[in-house]
Amino acid sequence: MKIDRVDLLIVRLQLVRTFETSSSRKDHLEHILVKVFADGLVGWGECASPLDPYYCEETTETCWHILKDFLIPSVLDRPWTNLEEITNCYRKVKRNNFAKAGLEMACWDILAQATRQPLHSVLGGTRQEILSGVSLGIEQDTDRLFGLIDQFLDEGYRRIKLKIAPGKDVAVVRKVRERYPDILLMVDANSAYTLADTPRLKQLDDFDLLMIEQPLAHDDIVDHAKLQRELRTPICLDESIHSVQDARKALELKSGRIINIKVSRLGGLLEAKRVHDLCYREGIPVWCGGMHEYGIGRAANVALCSLPGFSISGDVSGSDKYYAQDIVDPPIRAINGAIQVPQSIGLGFMPNEKRIKEFTVRFFSTAQ
Ligand SMILES: [Mg+2]
Repeated sequence: MKIDRVDLLIVRLQLVRTFETSSSRKDHLEHILVKVFADGLVGWGECASPLDPYYCEETTETCWHILKDFLIPSVLDRPWTNLEEITNCYRKVKRNNFAKAGLEMACWDILAQATRQPLHSVLGGTRQEILSGVSLGIEQDTDRLFGLIDQFLDEGYRRIKLKIAPGKDVAVVRKVRERYPDILLMVDANSAYTLADTPRLKQLDDFDLLMIEQPLAHDDIVDHAKLQRELRTPICLDESIHSVQDARKALELKSGRIINIKVSRLGGLLEAKRVHDLCYREGIPVWCGGMHEYGIGRAANVALCSLPGFSISGDVSGSDKYYAQDIVDPPIRAINGAIQVPQSIGLGFMPNEKRIKEFTVRFFSTAQ
């Protein structure tokens, strides 16, 4: 196969609710859609980078630059038959994983279409439906938080994740646990603490949490190992893991007992699958985190979650939790806390080009 054209589109969508974490607050997103043309087929990918560099160093602008000036020129008109050959084209580009993930995802879609298979089959998925949880941002008002939890439990979601930050942690989690003694509950600190906070984090051991996600620095696996020795609750690593080699080192150091696999953070589905395969061999549970993906990135997450090692409900929820209108048809729906893995060829959800055009704020094409 040969890629003969690539389009980039920055698409702006409003969130149905403002979302706050320990590092950012947002009410809309601008993700880059990557449209790849090869051998008469059209594949779609999504760069789900935040606008600001507070989750990692990348932003929508840096992704645009890296895609347009480095990644796309490296793959254009080069023959390829598998994803290793695609990622090899830009192996000299360090990190910039969100940018890579968008281009790589579109190539997986092309490959699935060329081989007449659903994406999950190309990846080796075995699950027919995936377990879906929700991630709730920091809320200033506890009654409002309870209202959201009630709503999502009523909708059938099976796991609730709370974002925490210093001072917005133990008391809130205690209240939630008292009100909902039996739910699967976890917290995510987005790297807001240091080892000096160990006594505070140990208090979270009282609440029977499924895990504490990324309590310490975004680039750390050493202090996490020290903290894990002090905690009964499993630590889950998110921001610290950018490759299968990062995952291997973290497992060797015992920096955590669970890994959150994010397609964007790992530079694409190929590396995400490698982390899954390593953890599956080692008996380490994994789940799929999200970056508020639109329907295209969300579809890729659904396909990834069909792999056998995804044994914990992830953050992949229905489109309606985030957007009034998604950009794919049908929108991704969670019913009773589960999303059906689509059986149609490719991503399994059709990009709605009319709606995409309506929300596009910047466009580039190699055909221009
Ligand atoms: Mg996280």
